[in-house]
Amino acid sequence: MIEPPRPVVMKFGGSSVADFDRMRRVAQIIAATASERPTVVVVSAMGKTTDRLVTDARALCEPPAPRELDMLLTTGERTSMALLALALHGLGHTAISLTGSQCGVITDHQHGRARIIEVRPFRILDELAAGHVVVVGGFQGVSYKREVTTLGRGGSDTSAVALAAALGADCEIYSDVDGVYDGDPRHVDAAARLEELGYEQMQALSRAGAKVLHARAVELAAERGIAIYARASFPEPGKSGQTVIRNNPAAPTGVRAVTCERQVIELRLRLRLNPGAPASKLVTALGRGLGGLGLAYLQIDERGVSGLLFASQRDDVETLESQVGRIVDQLEQPTASAGLELIEYRGDLAALTLVGAGLEERHDAITQALGVLEAANIALRGIRTDGQSVALLIDRAHATLATQQVHHAMLRSNSCRTP
Ligand code: ADP
Ligand code: ASP
Ligand code: MG
Repeated sequence: MIEPPRPVVMKFGGSSVADFDRMRRVAQIIAATASERPTVVVVSAMGKTTDRLVTDARALCEPPAPRELDMLLTTGERTSMALLALALHGLGHTAISLTGSQCGVITDHQHGRARIIEVRPFRILDELAAGHVVVVGGFQGVSYKREVTTLGRGGSDTSAVALAAALGADCEIYSDVDGVYDGDPRHVDAAARLEELGYEQMQALSRAGAKVLHARAVELAAERGIAIYARASFPEPGKSGQTVIRNNPAAPTGVRAVTCERQVIELRLRLRLNPGAPASKLVTALGRGLGGLGLAYLQIDERGVSGLLFASQRDDVETLESQVGRIVDQLEQPTASAGLELIEYRGDLAALTLVGAGLEERHDAITQALGVLEAANIALRGIRTDGQSVALLIDRAHATLATQQVHHAMLRSNSCRTP
C-alpha cells in the first residue's frame, strides 16, 4: 500500500516576503512543494512592518494598551498572508489564507507574549482535504476570552512548530540564512553552519539573543518531539545547507556556539517588606511575573528582597518598574509599606554568551573566554551560568569586538570543543 505523503509546514519570515518580487519567488518555492504533498505555509509580516506598527501605536499613546497593540500588530501578518495566497493564485494554485484564530490557535490571554495552549486544526484539515494550500498568519492566536493575541516578537516560528505538531507534519523554517551558525553570520565573519543541534543548546542560543529561531518554538518542538529544519529561502551559491534541530544526546560537549544580546539592561531593585510579611509570597509572585523579562536572581536579607533583572532595550525600565509595581499591588498582603526602590540601573550592557553542554563545569572554557576579554582590554561586568550556557556581561560598545575575538579563539582554534 502506498503511504499518503506527509504534510509539511513551511514558515517564511519577514525578510523572505519583504517585497512583491520575493513574495512571488516564495510562492514558486511553495508551489513546487505543494504539487507533491499537503502544504501549510506560515508567513510573517512583510519586512519591517511590525516595527513600523509598533512605532505608530506609540506615536498615539505611550505605552499602548496591550490589547489594541495586538489588534494592530496582527494586521501585518494578515496583509502578507492574503498577498501570498494571491501570489499562489497567480501561479494557478488554489490557496486560502487563514488567521490564527480561524486555524484554531488557542492561547492564554497574555497580550504581547501569549502562549499557545492548544491547536484545533479542523479548518486547515478541511482545506487540505479539498486540495488547497493553506497560508496561515503567523505570530497570532485567539484567547479563551476570544481576544486576538500575539506570541511575542519572532513568534511566527512558534506558530509553525505548533501547527506541525497538531497536523503531524514536518516543520521547515525558511529565513535569510541557510541554518544555524556557531556565531551570528552578520557579525562574525568566520561563523560556520552547524549541521545538527540539540534542543537544549538551540534554546540556550535563542534565549541568549540569537534570533534565528524563537526560543518558545524550540521549547515547543522539544516538548512535542518535532524536528525543525532551518534553511534559506533564497540560498546564495554554495550556501544551500540546513541545520536540523532535534534531540541530540550524542552531541559533543564544550563550546558549540557564541552569541551576543546587544541590548541588556541591568536593573537592581529592592522591595522593602512589611514587618512579618511573608517574603516567600513576594518572591513567588516576582519570579512568575518577571520570569519572561529576564529575572536573574533574587536575594532576601534583613532589608527586604532585592533582585537583578536583565532585559532587552525593548522592555524599557519604566515598563519593568510598572510591572514590578503591579505585581506588588496584586499581592494579598497590604502593600502600603512594601515599597519598591530602584537601587541601580545600567542601560548600556551586552551579554556575550557561550553555548554548550555542561559549560558550568568547564572552567577551562570560562577561563579562556575571560583571557580573551582581558587581552582585548574589555572589562567584565558580571557572569551568569546555567547547564547550557555561560553569559559574560560587558559594555555594549565592545559587543562586536568581543564576540569576534571569543569566537575566533574558542571555535576556530578547536581548543574547547571536546572534553
Ligand atoms: P526571519 O525574519 O526569517 O524570522 P530572523 O531575522 O528572525 O529571520 O532570523 C534570521 C537572522 O538571525 C539572520 O539574519 C542572522 O543575522 C540572525 N542570527 C543570529 N544568530 C544566528 C546564528 N547563530 N545562526 C544563524 N543566524 C543567526
Ligand atoms: N512579525 C512578527 C515580528 O516581527 C513575528 C515574526 O516575524 O515572527 O516579530
Ligand atoms: Mg524570526
